[in-house]
Amino acid sequence: MRCPYCTFSETKVIDSRLNQTGDSTRRRRVCPRCEGRFTTYERIEEVMPLVIKKDGRREPYAREKLWQGIEKSCQKLAVPAERVDALVTGIEKRLQSYGLKEVPSKTVGEMVMAELHKLDKVAYVRFASVYRDFNDVDEFVAELQEPPAPETDPAAPLFSFAHLPENGPEKSS
Ligand SMILES: [Zn+2]
Repeated sequence: MRCPYCTFSETKVIDSRLNQTGDSTRRRRVCPRCEGRFTTYERIEEVMPLVIKKDGRREPYAREKLWQGIEKSCQKLAVPAERVDALVTGIEKRLQSYGLKEVPSKTVGEMVMAELHKLDKVAYVRFASVYRDFNDVDEFVAELQEPPAPETDPAAPLFSFAHLPENGPEKSS
């Protein structure tokens, strides 16, 4: 989006929200060259497919919902807002490129997960816990766990041995 003051092309989004009627996105932008600030209203939803919910209901695509979900997953993590915005925009562009009238919410969720996996592993697990059934979350966490480090401290086995009750016949294990 071009800066209206100096025509610099790479302005940054500093805030993004859906308007009250839910049919356009209001974006506050700042120009990194002249520091000029301006607002754009972008109608995205018109060209976005409807989202098919789990229960079969169709809902208009809402950028803000997706944005909030991702932002929440990124809470207290070193993920800049521009990265979240770029992620959402990337997903919208891909969804638009499919040219579908409807898309399952699961598909959208999986696209987000794939992107978050590249961006931040903690954010990925948080997001996955929302989009997948609870039972599946353990799988996601397990997927992220690295294999246990090999034992390098020679004193460690002795230490754990010292904590066994008594090295006698009554040992239960
Ligand atoms: Zn400018």
